Amino acid sequence: MEIFDVAIVGAGPGGSTCAAFCAAAGLRTLLFEREKFPREKVCGDCLNPSCGPVLRRLGIAERIGQLPHGTLDAVEFIAVGEKRVIVDLPSGGEREIAIKRSLFDQLLMTRARELGAVIHQESTITALAGPPTPHVNHVCDRRPNEHWTLETEKGESFRAHLLVAADGRNSTVARLCNLLPRPERERIALQAHIPLPKNFGNRVVLQFLPNGYSGQAPVNDNELNLCLVSKPSQMPALRRWAEEQFGLSQNQPWRTITPLTRATIPPAHENLLLIGDAARVVEPFTGEGIYYALRSGELAANAIIKIIGGGDRQLALRAFARAHAQMYQGRLWINRLARAAVLSPRFASLLLRAAQIQPSILRVLTNKIVHML
Ligand SMILES: Cc1cc2nc3c(=O)[nH]c(=O)nc-3n(C[C@H](O)[C@H](O)[C@H](O)COP(=O)(O)OP(=O)(O)OC[C@H]3O[C@@H](n4cnc5c(N)ncnc54)[C@H](O)[C@@H]3O)c2cc1C
Repeated sequence: MEIFDVAIVGAGPGGSTCAAFCAAAGLRTLLFEREKFPREKVCGDCLNPSCGPVLRRLGIAERIGQLPHGTLDAVEFIAVGEKRVIVDLPSGGEREIAIKRSLFDQLLMTRARELGAVIHQESTITALAGPPTPHVNHVCDRRPNEHWTLETEKGESFRAHLLVAADGRNSTVARLCNLLPRPERERIALQAHIPLPKNFGNRVVLQFLPNGYSGQAPVNDNELNLCLVSKPSQMPALRRWAEEQFGLSQNQPWRTITPLTRATIPPAHENLLLIGDAARVVEPFTGEGIYYALRSGELAANAIIKIIGGGDRQLALRAFARAHAQMYQGRLWINRLARAAVLSPRFASLLLRAAQIQPSILRVLTNKIVHML
């Protein structure tokens, strides 16, 4: 059986980016995806301008611009009680856009295939095998020339020297390697695409409500991405608010996801790298997760290319771990603030009231989020 250089589990933004860069460098690259694309995902669909440089290096920035999307000029924060603060988003150069994940993720996966990655859709990885059993201590003990055996639920098996976990917040790879922390199921998210209300405008709305918060962004001329985030016990009330506010029926289908928060997993192991949400989950409110997935996919690919090319493995892994940590540096306070705001709508409303008096507070926060490089 052929031994591939690298197997990547999950074809979200992180996995497809990593696969594209590995394949472009001539590595024999496998990419596994549980779903059949195109598929939607629980996400606000907002692409931070910081994604631009990675998308250009992937050679797809123009193609993304040609797909249906909404261009966002401003963020409107709405407090409990309807007080509003509007913050303009950058208007020159790279713009914040909203694009359906069915389109965005499909294009990224297509790009990985164009560059030579071998892609298996509807292939859920259910087991990682091979001597020794790959739990974390053994992962660290593995000798460089040992390989992974991956098994799908269809009973197929594949072999690869390096493994990348890009399979999201509930990562199967992390679970099979005994790395997955206990989930904090304090909140859940619901998401749907609904008809775009008349005169919605080119804005993303972040609305704090007594039972949680809602994000809203136009993804094209006809559809609005609507997200709801709250504690499970308060979700029925938040759903009723959304049904009333947007004239939705009680049968409105929603996609759902949990947990929204969990502890971080170190991203670099001897033969295993974790990227995107599989390594670290950020607060959805900040709309940064896709950027982290793209960039960590690129950073992991750089390390893998060095290792497979015969470079110093430890040096490459350490450089990856360092760059991964740097990517989040100085930003965790935003996540903590966002999470506090979300868990306590009263705190969020106080923040907005302060921002009405001193709008620079929100401008600083928004700029920090959209200018991450
Ligand atoms: C409510 C909400 C709103 C958000 N809004 C935004 C936003 O507006 N902007 C933003 O930048 N970020 C947002 N995020 C975060 C963003 O969605 C994630 O950070 C991003 O999707 C992470 O990408 P990823 O590639 O790491 O993982 P994912 O996108 O989760 O992709 C993982 C892939 O792995 C596949 N998979 C899983 N298990 C297996 C398996 N065993 N075998 C094979 N395949 C498998 C899955 O099917 C999936 O396709 C939001 C998140 C939430 C919850």
